[in-house]
Amino acid sequence: MTTLDATREEAIARDERDPLDGFAERFHTADGLYLDGNSLGPLSTDAERTLQRVIEEWREEGIHGWTDGEPPWFRYGEHLGDRLAPLVGADETEVVAANSTTVNIHTLVGTFLDTIDGRPTVLIDGLNFPTDGYAVRAQLRQRGFDPDDRLVVVESSDGRTIDEGDVVAALEENDVDLLLLPSVLYRSGQLLDIECIATAAADHGVLCGFDLAHSIGVVPHDLSDVDFAVWCSYKYLNAGPGAIAGCYVNERHFGTQPALAGWWGHEKATQFEMRSTYTPAETAGAWQIGTVPMLSAAPLEGALDITTEAGIDAIREKSLTLSEYLMALVDDRLDDEFTVGTPRERSQRGGHVAVEHPAAERIVAALAARDVVVDFRPPNVVRVCPAPLYTSHLDVWEFVTTLSTIAESGDHERFDPSGEVT
Ligand SMILES: *Cc1c(COP(=O)(O)O)cnc(C)c1O
Repeated sequence: MTTLDATREEAIARDERDPLDGFAERFHTADGLYLDGNSLGPLSTDAERTLQRVIEEWREEGIHGWTDGEPPWFRYGEHLGDRLAPLVGADETEVVAANSTTVNIHTLVGTFLDTIDGRPTVLIDGLNFPTDGYAVRAQLRQRGFDPDDRLVVVESSDGRTIDEGDVVAALEENDVDLLLLPSVLYRSGQLLDIECIATAAADHGVLCGFDLAHSIGVVPHDLSDVDFAVWCSYKYLNAGPGAIAGCYVNERHFGTQPALAGWWGHEKATQFEMRSTYTPAETAGAWQIGTVPMLSAAPLEGALDITTEAGIDAIREKSLTLSEYLMALVDDRLDDEFTVGTPRERSQRGGHVAVEHPAAERIVAALAARDVVVDFRPPNVVRVCPAPLYTSHLDVWEFVTTLSTIAESGDHERFDPSGEVT
């Protein structure tokens, strides 16, 4: 094992060697340290430019923007889908920007539940982001099934991670029809082995869906063995609060009737014939519902310019390097008080790091008072996201230094858990 050089000079030297160092200039981050990009990525000049362009088009061309915008608004969801496809290792026709993540879970889970004969059994995990479970349960209830009877929940044995072996065992032991799992767990940052799970799902004839909200834009994907996927664009893709989400549908499912049908998913060539019968598009575009929300979609175009220019492989490499550096500094300087709850293996982690402490909530409040933005996730996680496009090694070094100052002085004890100074 190499020993860590924990000096500030070394942090600066690492930045000098960083090929993505220049990208930070294109983002607006407030003074202080912004380490929360897995909740909301910051605004970039690129996202501002494409949003501004659509506003101009609206001002100058009005309704003609649907056909004369550059690119035309009418196919903007498909256009963004083409740009997103390389990030998920899919064909352009298999990806569309549409709806919100939660709505996409509803329509895709609903769509595939409708293809299952008899009573469906659905596998989810016990650490999932709440909205995913709410939506799956609601889709089961709407079809007259009791979610408590129809769900197989794979629990965590350590409160942090899900064992892929437990998922595979659950597929073997239960007659599962469909699974929905996260790529990266929102709390611990564990990256699941999608390939392993997708292969096991295929072996058992199980429809396999993934929620990529915490990995799109920071982890490269190859979804060829996955049936469907959803994600949001406002975390590592930096497309803005509530930005349009994305979905992937494997081409073998083209032609399946979407559960939430709407005119925007109609075959494009005849959409404006306004027929009373619905003909879904022969692409993932069929899972669009209503009119593409141009103002929440336009920033994604510019944000994708940055991601594409940096390259997803370089982004992933820097993300792994930064998070490794963060964990090594925590081990080196804070080992007695804090525990890293994120798996150490490169293949088992996404972009963020869970730093655990019994007083995590007060510590996050004390960090906020020093203009350091991270998340508290109950019960004990300080969630830190060194997003590779705009976080430097020096930022990581300063974060750990601030954290140790707080821990050593006990300053966080001044804050009650709501963040108020007591
Ligand atoms: C952020 C996130 C969502 C967000 O869903 P919205 O519909 O955009 O509110 C959903 N699932 C996961 C796993 C997330 O991390």
